[in-house]
This record gives sequence, structure tokens and C-alpha cells, in this order.
Amino acid sequence: MSTEQKRGLLERLDAGAVICAEGYLFELERRGYLQAGAFVPEVVLDHPDVVKQLHREFIRAGSDIVEAFTYYGHREKMRLVGKEDLLEPLNRQALAIAKEAAEEAVGEPLLVAGNICNTNIYDHNDSGVGATIRSMYEEQVGWAVDAGVDLIIAETFPYLGEAMIALEVAKQSGVPVVVTFALHRGGGLRDGDPVDVACKKLEDAGADVVGLNCARGPATILPFAKKVREAVSCHVAAVPVPYRTGNDQPTMQSLQDPACDCIPDERPFPIALDPFTCNRFEIGAFAAEAYAIGIHYLGICCGNAPHHTRQMAEALGRHPPASKYSADMTKHYAFGSDKSLKQHNQDYTKDL
Ligand SMILES: [Zn+2]
Repeated sequence: MSTEQKRGLLERLDAGAVICAEGYLFELERRGYLQAGAFVPEVVLDHPDVVKQLHREFIRAGSDIVEAFTYYGHREKMRLVGKEDLLEPLNRQALAIAKEAAEEAVGEPLLVAGNICNTNIYDHNDSGVGATIRSMYEEQVGWAVDAGVDLIIAETFPYLGEAMIALEVAKQSGVPVVVTFALHRGGGLRDGDPVDVACKKLEDAGADVVGLNCARGPATILPFAKKVREAVSCHVAAVPVPYRTGNDQPTMQSLQDPACDCIPDERPFPIALDPFTCNRFEIGAFAAEAYAIGIHYLGICCGNAPHHTRQMAEALGRHPPASKYSADMTKHYAFGSDKSLKQHNQDYTKDL
């Protein structure tokens, strides 16, 4: 199908839910292709096949958006690892991989997203960094436009000021722009606004979709996403991390694991969060609840795996290709109900 016939992001959001599977950094770290710490997506150049395969798995699980893996592939991160010369090849390759993965998929054409993010150099007390940050976004958005993306995702901002620069640059692309904040423990932005107020300002400045991604799990992102939903007229995004955060430890960075005494620095974030991982049903319940209150742009951030995404899709009434293998316990040898199963195994279930 040609690009002309493809439904755009906003049309799809008006009609229902749109899913964006994220979490490439954490998943590729777990798989042994990316180093925690700097978290730079060098895998895009080192193992492009591995990145494409993860795109395929998220597409298969129901993601409507294929997000080019340029998160933390910006100039500041490339400088940090001494590889600024690879900045442009990495970005262009990530965009090409995402596009190729999207074009392989059958069914309704997928949306390919360019991605910009928090720079980690923004400082609301230092206006001098603004020009540097703007030029970082301009180069990345320029490569995304060259690649013909369908939208730009600008994400994980702790500051409204930084998000505003990203929005201004991303809007020049001419495609819809999604802007989301990462909300840390205090529940506000680092430059002062509550997130609902900040999102309204983004909407007024032209953002097409506003909301939250990363940092918070389903339980602690939803109350804030709800406030955003009430504050704005545009579509709202909620893209939590799949971890069991709560009131005392509302972010994945703040989680503590008293059951384990062998974690270096005693901080589970970012590579010992395993015991906090949400099961798929928790993700499904989150998706259904968020959609019911009018949040149509949904996804899962750091920690996401295909089974989470599939459950999200199914909770939203979808039947993605991966649903072919969704659980069917009726034929389980002990817990199943199939008439041909052996009774002695079913009688033994209480002892398993
Ligand atoms: Zn994340």
C-alpha cells in the first residue's frame, strides 16, 4: 500500500487505540547487545539484524508504531562514548531498520516514528545550553524527515523547557508530534510545573499528543495521566514501565529490594528490576483502564517484552499475529480440562 493510503496517527487515535511498543534499551541490554550505564544504542550499527528482529517481535505482538531506535543516540551520548563520528550513520541506520521492519509486516501499514529524547544537558538555570540542545534535535529530526517518518516521538523529558525546544524543532518536520514527560518521584517537572499544566502548555504550543512515558509503572503513572486527560483537548499518551511501582516508591529508579542482599549499590535500577516486573495481566488491565478514561495512545517503556505488548493489544480488542500462541491451558497435562487428559495427573495438581 502506498504512503498516500496510509491512515495517519491522529486519524487512528480518533478511531481508537494506537499502540507503541518501546523498551529497546532494556530488552537489548538483557539480550547482551547493549551496555547499561551509558545506554547508547550502538547495537544499531553493530548488530542491525538484532534490532530489526526486536522490531518484528513488537510488531507481531501488536505495536502499530515502529519507533526507530535512536533513543539516546544523540550527540551528547555519542560524545560520552567517544563516537560522535558515528552519530549520523547510527541515526540513519536506525531509521532505515525501522522502515524495513515496518514494510515487512502484513495487514494495515504501520507507522514509522522518528525519536528524540532528553539530552541530559538541559538545565533550567543555564539558558546557554538551549542553542546546543536545539541543534541536537535539528540534526536528528532532519534525518528522520529524510527517512520519511510518519510521526516524531519526543520523549522522557524531565523539564518542560527541554520538551518545548524538542517540540518546536519536531513541529518543523510537518508530521504529528508526540511529546511525553518522564515524571520522577515528586510528581512534577524539574522546572516547576505540575505535569498536567506542562502538558497543556505543550498542547497550546502545537503538540499533537501529550502525556507520560517511562519512569513510572502502571499504578503510579495512571493517576497523572488521568489529570493530563482532564487538562488537555488533544490525544493523551501513557507509556509506563512494566514494573510494580507504588506510592512509597513511585518510579523504577526508586524501587528497593529488601529480599535481596547481593545487588551492587543496593539499587535494583536499572539491571536488577526483574522481581518487580509486571505480569502480562497487569499490563492488560492497565491498558483497558487507561483506554476507558479516554487515553488512546498506549505503550510500554523500559522493561517491555513482546508478551506485555501482546496482552496490551488483546486488552484493547486486538488479535495480533502473536495471539496465535496466546495461552490455552485447556490442554495442559495437569491443569487442563481436555477429556483425553489423564485423571491421575489432574488429581495430583494440589501437590504440584
Ligand atoms: Zn523507558
